[in-house]
Amino acid sequence: GVEMPRPTRRRVMSVANQKGGVGKTTTTVNLAVALALHGNRVIVIDLDPQGNASTGLNVPHHAGVPDIYSVLIENVPLIEVAQAVDGIPNLRCVPATIDLAGAEIELVSVVAREQRLTRAIAAYPEEFDYVLIDCPPSLGLLTVNALVAAEEVLIPIQCEYYALEGLNQLLNNINLVKAHLNPHLDVSTILLTMYDRRTRLADAVEQDVRNHFGDKVLRSVIPRNVRVSEAPSYGQSVMTYDPASRGATSYYEAAQEIALRGVKND
Ligand code: ADP
Ligand code: MG
Repeated sequence: GVEMPRPTRRRVMSVANQKGGVGKTTTTVNLAVALALHGNRVIVIDLDPQGNASTGLNVPHHAGVPDIYSVLIENVPLIEVAQAVDGIPNLRCVPATIDLAGAEIELVSVVAREQRLTRAIAAYPEEFDYVLIDCPPSLGLLTVNALVAAEEVLIPIQCEYYALEGLNQLLNNINLVKAHLNPHLDVSTILLTMYDRRTRLADAVEQDVRNHFGDKVLRSVIPRNVRVSEAPSYGQSVMTYDPASRGATSYYEAAQEIALRGVKND
């Protein structure tokens, strides 16, 4: 509804951070569900061979299931591998199977290897509002494909001591992609995750990140919340598993902020 207005044109967002365990997958899944539950048509693309986003959305991704690997390497149309997500009518998920583990190497010798995902998304025959791409914890060709396909990067930052370490490497890569492959790319959104309000450290990290990135940082901060970490084992997002939890309400608020900011450059 009006609380999460649909964008005037499709937004492709890559959720990236080469650090593992910072909340990329959790953020992708919960923002996608929040947006879809409020009238947006959303596609999640699982670009991590571990397939955690597929697991979190309860989408089959065992060996042999047509997945994003088939799209990137075998030219299978995205729509043929996009699966419905139980209970969330506006949401599709393109799963990742273990096959994807080989793609990083196989892509090297493929024609237009950095543009495979861009082309697949462009050929998608249905309209949608958001594509959220869950990146692997590396800066290889899979992440490059995500950065070339997107106009926006969403960087989740975990509120811990080493939070900003390694971020320069990610930002350098984003600038390289912007300079050579995708001039439309921009870091549009920073989301602070796993915030523990009892520690002074979390507060210091938050101040650091806000000083550094200004209004790219969402006002909503995701707290460390056990319901968030329990939800995937029930094949659910926290949005449906426990909508009243602080995890769910904060992801709802983050999704709303993202929606209200609208399409970049509009
Ligand atoms: P990444 O995709 O960056 O590797 P994940 O989203 O998989 O990170 O999160 C890493 C771990 O932290 C997972 O076990 C996840 O359930 C847990 N987690 C993520 N966000 C929260 C949160 N807000 N509160 C509690 N646990 C969380
Ligand atoms: Mg992940």
